[in-house]
Amino acid sequence: MSTPVDDGALIRQIEQLSDQTITDCYQCGGCTAGCPVGEIMEPPPSRAIRLLQLGRVHELLDSQGIWLCASCMVCGNRCPRGVDYAKIAEACRAIKLRAKYSRVDPDTIVIDETEEIPQQAFVAGFRKFAG
Ligand code: SF4
Ligand code: SF4
Repeated sequence: MSTPVDDGALIRQIEQLSDQTITDCYQCGGCTAGCPVGEIMEPPPSRAIRLLQLGRVHELLDSQGIWLCASCMVCGNRCPRGVDYAKIAEACRAIKLRAKYSRVDPDTIVIDETEEIPQQAFVAGFRKFAG
């Protein structure tokens, strides 16, 4: 049986998986201003990072925003502090997916057509591994 992970450990896991430092963000809002889906994403990137700075990690992990991020990389390119929110959102999605699916072997994976795997999981994987 797995032990529950405390909020601080979850935030460190997000930082480790994304290779980003949450406290580097000084909340200028540039990422949100440039995000093509920022108006409908809840929370938008700058607020998502603020939630992590405040330790409210589950509000972000349970949000629809991490699944709306299209991994377009605009936010990271605009950030004066070099924070790449696309990687943070990807780390959050990985944590959610890992809690549901164990590690899969691509040669033996079976797609259950009755169960939806979020499209963004494939888009982000393509961005990460292609090119
Ligand atoms: S990577 Fe995601 S959060 Fe960043 S600008 Fe693109 S859609 Fe918005
Ligand atoms: S652009 Fe960078 S510093 Fe500004 S709010 Fe976004 S992540 Fe934080």
